[in-house]
Amino acid sequence: MKKLVYTILIFTTIMAISCKNQNKSSQTEENLTEFKILDENIEETIQKIKEKNTDKERFRIEKGVKQVASLWQQKDGDLTDFTNFCIDNFIADSTDLKIAFDKLERNFEILFGHYNKISLKLMEPLHLDMGEISFIDNVMGAYSPQAHLIEDLFENKLAFFVALNFPAYSLTEKTENAEKWSRLEWAYARMGDLFISRVPAGLLQKEAEVLTNADTYIADYNIYMENLVNSEQKTFFPKDMKLITHWGLRDELKSNYQANNGLEKQIIIYNVMLRIINQDIPIEVINKNDFTWDPIANKIYKDGKETSFTKENYTRYEHLLYVFKALSAMDKYNPVYPSYIERAYDQEMEISRKEIEELFVNFISSPEIKDLAKLIEKRLNRSLEPFDIWYDGFKARTNINEEELDQITRRKYPNTSAFEKDIARILVDLGWNRDKANYIANKISVDASRGAGHAWGAQMKGDQAHLRTRIGNKGMDYKAYNIAIHELGHNVEQTISLYDMDYYMLTGVPNTAFTEACAFLFQSKDLKLLGKESHNKNQETEALAALDNCWSAFEIMGVSLLDMYVWQWMYENPDANPQELKEAVVNLAIDVWNKYYYPVMGVKDSPILAIYSHSITSPLYLANYPAGHLIEFQIEQYLNDKNFAEEFTRVLLQGKITPQAWMKGAVGSEISGQTTLEAVRKALVIIK
Ligand SMILES: [Zn+2]
Repeated sequence: MKKLVYTILIFTTIMAISCKNQNKSSQTEENLTEFKILDENIEETIQKIKEKNTDKERFRIEKGVKQVASLWQQKDGDLTDFTNFCIDNFIADSTDLKIAFDKLERNFEILFGHYNKISLKLMEPLHLDMGEISFIDNVMGAYSPQAHLIEDLFENKLAFFVALNFPAYSLTEKTENAEKWSRLEWAYARMGDLFISRVPAGLLQKEAEVLTNADTYIADYNIYMENLVNSEQKTFFPKDMKLITHWGLRDELKSNYQANNGLEKQIIIYNVMLRIINQDIPIEVINKNDFTWDPIANKIYKDGKETSFTKENYTRYEHLLYVFKALSAMDKYNPVYPSYIERAYDQEMEISRKEIEELFVNFISSPEIKDLAKLIEKRLNRSLEPFDIWYDGFKARTNINEEELDQITRRKYPNTSAFEKDIARILVDLGWNRDKANYIANKISVDASRGAGHAWGAQMKGDQAHLRTRIGNKGMDYKAYNIAIHELGHNVEQTISLYDMDYYMLTGVPNTAFTEACAFLFQSKDLKLLGKESHNKNQETEALAALDNCWSAFEIMGVSLLDMYVWQWMYENPDANPQELKEAVVNLAIDVWNKYYYPVMGVKDSPILAIYSHSITSPLYLANYPAGHLIEFQIEQYLNDKNFAEEFTRVLLQGKITPQAWMKGAVGSEISGQTTLEAVRKALVIIK
């Protein structure tokens, strides 16, 4: 389910940079504060270029020169060098500009594509099951070969050339121009986004390092379920069940709605989660198989005898703090988006933090959610527990025996290559013709992963996208299959939007919410692709799907709001220690819960929204999921009576324009929770 952030944004990828020489970065910092091109010099340069050109170019000249000035440092040359560079390199003629654009695109694809491939290969020992992770694997996995690329492009002045000729537009400007721009103008605008900040290499290296460390911490955070007991020392989980936080734990919790002793198992898992959030979990049970553990009483046992243990305390929050420090250290080098919060929302998602907050708060406070909760309570025949935010009873598959599904998927997919070979068939089932299905399938390779799985796209034509999936020694179980189909959705999107796009600069989708929407569209068809679901959707399955979509959005919107508030808190308390951060996260989680979830669930004071691993490894990424849920639902409703493959391809070929423009082009309206809530109102009449 986890989507690696750096597979999406070409430029962020390239910015994950390494520099061994810390002195060099502090030197750069000094230069930046000492040296500034004054407004009068900028004005003078603009005038000189204007004299040589028509008034038509006024806007580009002003924007370009100002942008070059904001990036220019002392080591780039003196004032005369700056002025001459701008005069000599400004391109007024549109044919010449297009020639320059084509050449730049070609070069960027070569650079981004190959660096992406090198990173992917270096990280293989961390991502794939290639034996014990060694010092070398960790060091080389955290190392970024593209370390000096950006600085090199400033040094050879290519970055300035781009900044001068391809203006950077703000989110507001892009929104205003969205309907007017041609495809080429959109591509020019994306070119203009490339050089809007100049962060010292040392800081970029630090970012890569802390994120890789956080990732490794979570990837190795497994719970041996057979060791979990209740107060009577009774075990409930099968041998060899080893679950990763939080994906594995959550999915097991979900799958127990219809199992024997289901509620008791869910309560045990919920308590494991609380121990992780509160960090009073014994370190003796993290990724270790030596002790029996009663997570409710928080006692551990060796050979039936209670023994003492050490609490983890706050390693989880230490990682979050390192991530915050590394990312906020870059603020002063980002004049356009001077906080990570703005960079995550306004710059990366291209939807402002305020817009996201309003969208989510309105949705989770809507009366339909309370009606839905009442229905769940009725179906469960008990009062709701906090973990019922993961209620799974609206899925068609809960009517089907999961063991039977495990048998089917294990038989079908004993190893990764069996899944890889089946991709073309899956695509044909989804409506692609045989040739196109083979064309796409040939560009996706399937690897056995250490973690829960992810999709890593190519960034140049000629390269493969990678689907990482966890396959046990008995073959792929249904849970892994379900995730693999989700990841396949990512890979197909990555492949079409790279290989079939008109301009390389427009490769991809507006933001990761759209990638997730594509992945969820695939995931929702997993049973159908196994031949286990009727091809004619009836009214009831559609109603169930609407309720399921709404409840998932409700769950994860709270987690995303928490993420947002935690980051705000860190910005307000930049000197907090890990213990203070832990307390803040728990308090904020309870605040969000009591404000929006208590009125729906009827239970107070649960910190459960703080369990997500993304909050530690993928800062402020989570909002993409619920936004994705809404987008997915809007697209799904739209695709309902159309050819899936054809329309899926059509909407993808819009490429990386702004989110709202993409949605208008795709389904005819902007992103909204209303489609989901309307469907819920209708569904609540059908499902009782
Ligand atoms: Zn995903």
